[in-house]
Amino acid sequence: MSAVPVEPLGELHTYAEEVSGCTRCRLAQGRTQVVFGAGNPHAGLMFVGEAPGFHEDKQGIPFVGQAGKLLEKLLAGIGMERSDVYIANVLKCRPPGNRDPQPDEIEACESHLFRQIALIEPTVVATLGNFATKLLSGRQLGITKVHGQEQQTTIGGRDVLLYPLYHPAAALYTPTMLKVLESDFARLPELLGRAAAPALPEPELSLVSASVSAEQLGLF
Ligand code: URA
Repeated sequence: MSAVPVEPLGELHTYAEEVSGCTRCRLAQGRTQVVFGAGNPHAGLMFVGEAPGFHEDKQGIPFVGQAGKLLEKLLAGIGMERSDVYIANVLKCRPPGNRDPQPDEIEACESHLFRQIALIEPTVVATLGNFATKLLSGRQLGITKVHGQEQQTTIGGRDVLLYPLYHPAAALYTPTMLKVLESDFARLPELLGRAAAPALPEPELSLVSASVSAEQLGLF
């Protein structure tokens, strides 16, 4: 028997291996590889983009192109780096010519994302652009209306703070959008702190309200 301790493979890693052979939709035929996701498997902050592009498909890692460089810059602006967060996409395979994800592709792929979120257990999920935002909020409101507005929701049976952001690829060439993305991004530390803060213990709350109502009743 080897004396070298073997690190057990995490559940997320095992799931990634399973998904690497996925043939649930037509995108399996044109891909170089499945781009499952990358980063800290225990991250409190998770980003969800749209789908792998040319470079992501070649390298097997999400957000390695120009949009990824901007994402890294935005992260640096709040004192974080890629290894602090987890990054994934709605679709795990590249659509041909980087076209938009189609509804049946999203439907075929979404349970991979839900399982990923359930295994990572982030407290804040930042959706990048329309596709991730609509899928995870369950609403059809576009990113222009909802960016920067956090909402408490349940994903994969867990409470998370959903935080819609403009997609970095869209902000790359639109300076006004970049400004908005930067200011929305700047609120992430506060949201992470808020999500991590323990809720006020209930007994204290009920004691306060009990004493108020007792006073109101003239008991004290
Ligand atoms: N755009 C995305 O939405 N995802 C990537 O991985 C790269 C670019």
